[in-house]
Parts: sequence; C-alpha cells; structure tokens
Amino acid sequence: MNRKEILSALKNKPAVSVLIIGGGINGIGTFRDLSLNGVDVLLVERGDFCSGASAASSHKAHGGIRYLENGEFRLVREAVRERNLLLQNAPHVVKPLPTTIPIFKRFSGLLNAPLKFVGMLDEPSERGSIVIKLGLMMYDAYTGRQRTIPKHQFFSRKKSLKKWKYLSAKIINTAVYYDGAILQPERLAVELLLDAESEKSNARALNYVSMVGGSDDTIILRDELTDANYDVHPKLVINAAGPWIDFTNRKLGLSSRFIGGTKGSHIVVRHAELRQAIGENEFFFENEDGRIVLIFPLYDHILIGTSDIPVEHPDEAYCTDEEIDYFLKLTSRIFPSLKLTRENIIFQFSGVRPLPRSTTKSASEVSRDHSIEVLSGDWTNLRFPVYSLVGGKWTSFRAFSEQVTDKALAYLGLARQKDTRSLPIGGGRSYPRDPDEISRHIESLSAWTGVARERLKVLFERYGTRAETVATYLNGGTDFIVKTLPDFTLREIVFLVQHEKICHLDDFLLRRSMLAMTGRITREMIEELAKILGNVLGWNEEQRAVEVQRTLSILTDRHGLRL
Ligand SMILES: Cc1cc2nc3c(=O)[nH]c(=O)nc-3n(C[C@H](O)[C@H](O)[C@H](O)COP(=O)(O)OP(=O)(O)OC[C@H]3O[C@@H](n4cnc5c(N)ncnc54)[C@H](O)[C@@H]3O)c2cc1C
Repeated sequence: MNRKEILSALKNKPAVSVLIIGGGINGIGTFRDLSLNGVDVLLVERGDFCSGASAASSHKAHGGIRYLENGEFRLVREAVRERNLLLQNAPHVVKPLPTTIPIFKRFSGLLNAPLKFVGMLDEPSERGSIVIKLGLMMYDAYTGRQRTIPKHQFFSRKKSLKKWKYLSAKIINTAVYYDGAILQPERLAVELLLDAESEKSNARALNYVSMVGGSDDTIILRDELTDANYDVHPKLVINAAGPWIDFTNRKLGLSSRFIGGTKGSHIVVRHAELRQAIGENEFFFENEDGRIVLIFPLYDHILIGTSDIPVEHPDEAYCTDEEIDYFLKLTSRIFPSLKLTRENIIFQFSGVRPLPRSTTKSASEVSRDHSIEVLSGDWTNLRFPVYSLVGGKWTSFRAFSEQVTDKALAYLGLARQKDTRSLPIGGGRSYPRDPDEISRHIESLSAWTGVARERLKVLFERYGTRAETVATYLNGGTDFIVKTLPDFTLREIVFLVQHEKICHLDDFLLRRSMLAMTGRITREMIEELAKILGNVLGWNEEQRAVEVQRTLSILTDRHGLRL
C-alpha cells in the first residue's frame, strides 16, 4: 500500500493491535519482528525513517569492548553475537572492519577496571597496553566458536611505525582487532522496513506522521504533510521515540524520566593523504581525556568522532566549533605530520544517544544496555499499556526488538512463529560470498537484464542483490543519465522515490543515498533533483521551490554545508 492507501485504510479501520511510535532502528526492528509473526502493526515516524539518533551513529557494528571494564559482560556477549549476525545477514552494508588501537602508555589504567567493579571510579582515563591486551583477549573469547572475524594481534612500536608511515612516533604499540562497519545505516533501516511490509499486508509504516496526543482508547496522529488528524485504537503502544521517549510519554499524559541523553557529533573530512594513511582501517583509541574516539574510513573520505555531552533536549544537538576543534586535535595527535583543517570538512552531524538516566559522573560511563519500561494501569488514563524502549545500540537492535516482540506477543496472547536470527536483510538476501561469485552474479544479471556490467557493479555496491529489482525497473522505460549525477540515472531515482517512501528531497540526499555525507551535493544538483522528484511526487513550481529551500536550510543548519 502507498501512503494514501495506508491513511485511507486507517480512516476506515482505526483499530490496530500494536502502534509503534518512532521509526528509528529500534522501532523499525520491532516492526519487522512483529510483522514476521503475523501481528497487525502500524509504525509512525514524525520525520523521515532513521533520521533521529539512528542517523547519528559512528557507523560501527561493535561489541563494545570498553563495556567489559564496566563489568557489562552480558551486554558485550550480546553485542558481539549481534555484530556477527549483521555481518552475516546484511553483508551488502555491513563489512568487517579492521580496527587499530594506537597505544601511548604501558601501565596506565591497570587499576581502572578493579576500581570500577567496586564502584570507586567513574572518571575515564587513558588505558595502557597491558589493560588493552587483557580486554582484547576477553573480547576474542566472546567471539568464541563463531569466528566470523579474525582474532586480535599486537604489534611492536617498530613494526607499527613501519606499517603506518604517518603514525605518531610517540606510540609504544598498536593492537589490531576486528569489528564491523555499517556503511549505510539509513538504507539498511529502510530495507528492514520494506522487508517487514512485504511480509504482511497489515504491517504498515508511515513517515511524516506524528503522535500528537491520546487518552482512553485513542491515540491521535497528525499527517505532517497535510495536517490531517487520524484516530487510532491500539491494544498496545510501543514508544520507540529514542531520545524523545519522555516527551512522547508526556503527550499521552504520562510522566516519565527514563532518558538521560548525551550528544555525540561527527565530522566527515576529505583528505587524500589521511585517507591513504588509514587504508581500510579504523583507528579507535582513547584520547588524552580518556574519551573513546575514532578515525574511520567512510568510502573515499574519513569519519571522525565523537563527543559525549549531556543535553537536556534532543532537538539541541548540533555539532559545535569546540567539538570540531577537538576532532581536529585528536587526529593530529595520531597523525601529527598530516595537516587537517576546517577546509577539509565536507559534512557534519550530531545526535543524542537515548541512554538511561543515570547518576554517574561521566557520560561515557552510562550503561549502553537496553530495557523495556512498562507504563500501565488505572493511573494512566489509557486503556492500553505503553512500552518505552530505553537505550540500546544500533548493533544490538535485533536482540532488543526480539525481546520487545516476545513481550508484545505474550501480552497479545500470541505465540512466536518465526525469528529474525538468520533472516537476511534487503539486498543481503542470497548475497554472493566472494569476489569471483560477485563477478559471476553481475555478469549473469547483465546478460538477462541487458544493463551494462559497469552500471550493474555500481547498483550492486549500492543495493546488494536488490540491484536485480532496480535493474529490471531501469529496463522498463527510456532512461538517461542525470546531468549533475553521472553515476545515477533518472529511472533509478524514480524507482527509489516510488518504492522507498521518499516524501522530501532531503530524504533522498541524506538517507536513501550517501550523496550528502560524501560531500557531493551542489546547488545545481539540488535544483535538478527537485525537478525529478517533483515530477514523480506531483510538486508544482511553488512546492519545488519550498523543497529546495527546506533542503538548503537543513544542509546548512544541521550539516554545516555552504552551497
Ligand atoms: C553520536 C552517536 C554515535 C553512536 N554510535 C553508534 C555505533 O557506532 N554503533 C552502535 O551500535 N550504536 C551507536 N549509537 C547508538 C544508536 O545509534 C542508538 O542507540 C539507536 O540509533 C537508537 O535508536 P532508536 O530507534 O531508539 O532512536 P531514534 O533513532 O532516535 O528513533 C526515534 C524516532 O522517534 C521519532 N519520534 C519522536 N517523537 C515522535 C512522535 N511524537 N511521533 C512520531 N515519531 C516520533 C523521532 O523522530 C526519531 O526518528 C550511537 C548514537 C549516537 C547518538
């Protein structure tokens, strides 16, 4: 069903078993699991899907090695397992990521872990090689029999400096271990959602629809594109509003203080020498202040982050000048001979981690674990319970969604029929496993779709095995190359607009493609794309101008672009 059909079906039949508020990764993951288990479920997202905290991540599928020190063994075990499942189920988007730790001290931090266990330390500080070695051994142990990725290695100073020519001569060791890189998290989230909708016709998801209030047996939704209101009568509400969870509960007359969010920002830089210097390795380390930071290969560019600053309101999350100074300084500490300046920045972003409210002194000490908080009973003025999904990580969304789904199924009196553990996601389905198999796959696709091999390679890189569906669509009519975007064709963009719930121009630039994050946007491109999208979505000239203006404002205000 398209947007119009979903809304009109809702008007005719406002009863739904489960209403999910929030289309970040946790809402979408739960939507998929409920849909797979035959539940009629409606998900509403007030902006675009995956535009909140889920769009602000460091792009890592990781076990969270540093949580070992906090004694969060269950969390690490779960995250390592989920990281491996992501590598297996979404190989088109999630890739193994060799991660190098540059180490500047030997003994530092030896006392940190024991002190933390007995609750006497909650300030971070830089760890030395002995503590890091112990941590990596434990991490390897958790990877256990799965062996999806290799074990860690330790390198001497001499070997490290030979391997990393620009690396600071002040290091005493480097260690290399493996995690995963989620290269296009926003696309992965939308593919999950489309999988869920194709699973069951009464699993429906709407972006640009807000939950604005509710009482008794009714929730009020507002279509942000038309301002029309809709009533819904759910049996159960899942509040998956991430850092906005408490604000969302308040709209339902519920008072909660579950979230103590911290802001994290990133910059993306264009710097050929630095990009060459890191190769396909992420550099992941503790800065002098003990904060964990990263320098991460993102396509032809480099992602640098992140901060961890408590904020009161998630809408206040912007990347500040001080954070940018911090990122530039931490990079020059590791690669002192490479000059990185503000001129190299092509994109910036910021978001708020929906962490549980906590009394620890330091933001980085707050647990990254997840929990389901239930609000129900006579005091609520609501005839349905509200489950709030607090905390979590991108990496472990599947496990969290599974726990929420189990609880929801139990409440609805239903039994689980299927699980998501080995379920491929979107273009990760039937994904060829090695380069030869990929070449053969592309060759045979080219033969039967008639789309050129070079073009198919690009589509395969973007969409995995969904490239087949896209290529078939391309062949269904006259196509031409987009002037300002020579690696896209008109029909590819039309396909995305028609099949991936694009409502605004920025949905395409920021979340269905990597164009914004990889610094490719020009003013001319925005104008050309506004025409293409406008033709599909029926914008008149005035609406097109509004879209161009909206896009320019978002890119300037939130992402630091000057076009
Ligand atoms: C800086 C940073 C770095 C991170 N790095 C990593 C990492 O590398 N790896 C990792 O595993 N995790 C990482 N995380 C954590 C991870 O990104 C989050 O835990 C996860 O994305 C939270 O998802 P969510 O669905 O709960 O929240 P969100 O993605 O914020 O989704 C909530 C959604 O609810 C919507 N909403 C709010 N109010 C309403 C309403 N009234 N009606 C309708 N919709 C509403 C919002 O618009 C929003 O889209 C990072 C997080 C941050 C901020």
